[in-house]
Amino acid sequence: MALMFVNGESFPSKSGQTYEVKNPATGEVVDTVPKGTAEDVQAAVAAADAAFPAWRDTAPETRARLLFKGAELIREKIDELAVLETKEQGKPVAESKREIEHFLHGLEFYAGLASKIRGAYVPLPDHKMYGMVIKQPLGVCAGIVPWNFPITLMGTKVGPALAAGNTMIVKPASTTPLTAIRIIEVLNQAGLSKGVLNIVTGPGSVVGEELLRHPRVRRIAFTGETGTGKHVAECAGREMKRLTLELGGSDPMIVCDDAALDAAVTGAAVGRFYNCGQACLAIKRLYLFEAIYDQFVEKLIGKAQRLKVGNGLDKETRLGPLHTAAQRQEIEEQVADAVKRGGKVLAGGKRPEGAEYAKGFFYLPTLLAEVPDDARIVCEESFGPALPIFKVKDLDEAVARANSSIFGLGSSIWTRDLGKARAAAERLEAGNVWINSLHIGYDEMPFGGVKSSGIGREHGPEALEYYLEPKGVVVATG
Ligand code: NAD
Repeated sequence: MALMFVNGESFPSKSGQTYEVKNPATGEVVDTVPKGTAEDVQAAVAAADAAFPAWRDTAPETRARLLFKGAELIREKIDELAVLETKEQGKPVAESKREIEHFLHGLEFYAGLASKIRGAYVPLPDHKMYGMVIKQPLGVCAGIVPWNFPITLMGTKVGPALAAGNTMIVKPASTTPLTAIRIIEVLNQAGLSKGVLNIVTGPGSVVGEELLRHPRVRRIAFTGETGTGKHVAECAGREMKRLTLELGGSDPMIVCDDAALDAAVTGAAVGRFYNCGQACLAIKRLYLFEAIYDQFVEKLIGKAQRLKVGNGLDKETRLGPLHTAAQRQEIEEQVADAVKRGGKVLAGGKRPEGAEYAKGFFYLPTLLAEVPDDARIVCEESFGPALPIFKVKDLDEAVARANSSIFGLGSSIWTRDLGKARAAAERLEAGNVWINSLHIGYDEMPFGGVKSSGIGREHGPEALEYYLEPKGVVVATG
């Protein structure tokens, strides 16, 4: 049985309750974990609170060294961790490994920034006085993480929080706690003082709620669905907690008639089908200029049909199962709704057949055409391997339709005309725009959404600011 890690030690829940984590490809039990309670959260908050003053006062270079050391220890175990992540999450092992590498890159990025945090000297109108802005950590932070990228999205919170001198409690998604627990254990083995980094497992409605309520938790870093995010914002508001929300998306991709077609086709296929379409920044709406529509669609159908669907542990697999039965049911319902409203299935549109698929939540890579703009798959977030494709006459139409969404996370434009690219980058209502590029989050760049896709930014040096409070200090001299 895997255990929670609190105050430097592994623990079961005080309630003694556990639950099973199952492999979405086979239905087999991977392991059991503690079903945490409010009392477990309170113990973790007390430990993180007690650890805070010493960690805050630890020299930034020492904090950095411990994080670098932790990254090194995790790198030694990356193959076994990747297999564990695939078993609990479903994605191909190569994707799990890439995710853990990205986690390590992020951890080292923030470790490197720990000693670069600085404030300001401010001249004041009275020459005998001056001001200082000092930046201080907040205290106990909670990182609430979803199941689609359970390790990188933990890293986008743990890295800046600890580098800036905060302590942290991680709450993984109920269905993906195992690799996260192992990683927190290993980071602690690098020499973190007890209580600096903790993990409590269990349902969002219990463990998550207690983190939102507890007055000693000063900062919530939440990644998840927009609906949950709105609730998190309300609860955090009651206690005036600092907050970032990384929520749902419905990213549009625009391909102009002068684009490098093969690269754009690959961009669309990877963008929609990576992690079985379960990515916030996945391409969820594809807008093609009329002149290239037929050629583009033909190439994309070929690519989608060649993707090998299967158990993520098999080397040939490019598309694992959906993460849960509910996820698959949702994408099936969205596709059925699109077809009912006149949409045409160009590829997939059903489950794969055969004994190897009988126990997992598999679904074929799916392409749809002639889907009306009011179909669910266009208006809602679609979190699975199905992509509606639209024909547009020019950039104005493409941008207008791209912007006609409640979401505003990412977006992309493919064109050789830099003027067009720049116009689109300025006009697209999104936190991120990629020009002739895959939708990828870089540690070096701020990442986040506008509209219903969230508040605040993760990644980039910008993320550190959300873990620091600027304090104004005025000094009178003479
Ligand atoms: P979710 O909202 O169901 O759960 C996210 C986390 O919140 C989980 O740990 C869950 O246990 C917890 N939670 C649930 N109810 C809670 C409550 N009442 N109080 C506190 N915590 C609670 O989301 P999910 O299904 O795990 O993740 C998929 C969603 O995440 C998608 O919408 C996706 O777009 C979004 N996402 C966004 C980004 C981004 O950076 N914008 C990145 C990845 C995923």
